[in-house]
Amino acid sequence: MQDQYQRNIDYMRVSITDRCNLRCQYCMPNDITLLPMDMILTYEEILDVIRQAATLGIRKIKVTGGEPLVRKNCPDLIREIKNIDGIEKVTLTTNGILLPRFVDELKDIGIDGINISLDTLRTDRFAAITGFDALAQVLKGIDASLAAGISTKINTVLQKGVNDDEWIDLMKLAEDRKLDVRFIELMPIGYGDKERGINDHELRGKIRDMYPGTEEDTSVHGNGPATYIRIPGFKGGVGFIAAINEKFCQDCNRIRLTCTGRIKPCLCYGESFDLREILRTREGEERDTELRETLRKAILYKPKEHCFEQSSQITEKKKMSQIGG
Ligand code: SAM
Ligand code: SF4
Repeated sequence: MQDQYQRNIDYMRVSITDRCNLRCQYCMPNDITLLPMDMILTYEEILDVIRQAATLGIRKIKVTGGEPLVRKNCPDLIREIKNIDGIEKVTLTTNGILLPRFVDELKDIGIDGINISLDTLRTDRFAAITGFDALAQVLKGIDASLAAGISTKINTVLQKGVNDDEWIDLMKLAEDRKLDVRFIELMPIGYGDKERGINDHELRGKIRDMYPGTEEDTSVHGNGPATYIRIPGFKGGVGFIAAINEKFCQDCNRIRLTCTGRIKPCLCYGESFDLREILRTREGEERDTELRETLRKAILYKPKEHCFEQSSQITEKKKMSQIGG
C-alpha cells in the first residue's frame, strides 16, 4: 500500500532473533543484554504477521537478526514464508558463518538471494571487528552461496581508521566473482556514530577516477535503495547504500518487524507499533483485523525522512542487532 507520501511500501525486513554468533562492535557490543525468549515472536506468530502484511501489499521479505541462522530451523521458516500468498521474494541477511551448513537447504527452498556481511579480508581485523577469528568460515560461506548458484551480495560497512583502507580489495571481490559488493554507510544507531563512517558519495568518485569507463547501472539488483555502478571487466556490480550522504528517503519502500513483534516505520525513530500483544491476546478474525489495521497505521505513520544528519533528533535507542539492520 501507499504511505502518506505516495511511496509504495512493499518490503518488510523481519528480524527473527536478537542472538548472534559474532559481536560486531558497531552493532552488538559485548555487554549487550539478550532478551528473554518469551519476548521473541514464535515462527507461527511471525508467519501470521507476514500473512496480514501480504494482504496490504508487502511482496518482499528479508529475514534478518541478530544472526538469523543461529535460530533453530530458520530454513523451515523461510520455506513457510515463501508459501504465503502474495509474497514474491524472500531473501536472507547473514554473517555467513553458518552458510556452509545451510546453503543446500536454502537452495532447495528456492531462496531468492543471500546478503553476506563482510567488513574486512584480513584475519586479524576480522577478529578485532567481530570479536571472533572466523574470516575463513565466512569466505567459505560466500563460496558456498556462489557455488549453489544463489544470487549473492556482500554488505560492507567501512569505518574510518578501522577498515577504510580496504575498499579496493573488498570491491575487487566483484571483479572475478558474479556477486555484488555494496558499501553501506555507517548509521548513527547504537554504536554507529556518523563521525566514524565513510562518505559513499566520495567513494563512488574515487572508484570512477580509478576506472574511467565506469557507468551508472540502473537495472534492479535488489529490494531497496542501493544504487550501483558497472566497472569495466568486473563480473559483479558495486553498490552503495548511502543513507546519510545520498539520502534516499523519497524512495523508501520498507517497514521493519523487530524480533519482539514491533513494527518500526523508520530506522531513525524509536516509535513502533506493538503486534505481540495482539498476537497473544486476540483470536480468529478479530486478531487478523487488528494485526492488519496496526500494520496499516504503521505504514501511514512513516515519516517523510530520517534524521541521521541531526543526531540530537534520533530517538531510536535500540542496538542494530535488535532491529535487524
Ligand atoms: N547478522 C546478520 C548480518 O550481519 O548480516 C544480519 C543482521 S545485521 C544487523 C544486518 C546488517 O546491518 C549488517 O550488514 C551490518 O553490517 C549492518 N549494520 C549493523 N549496524 C549498523 C550500523 N550502525 N550502520 C550501518 N549498518 C549496520
Ligand atoms: Fe551479528 Fe550481524 Fe550485528 Fe555482526 S552485524 S553483530 S553479525 S547481527
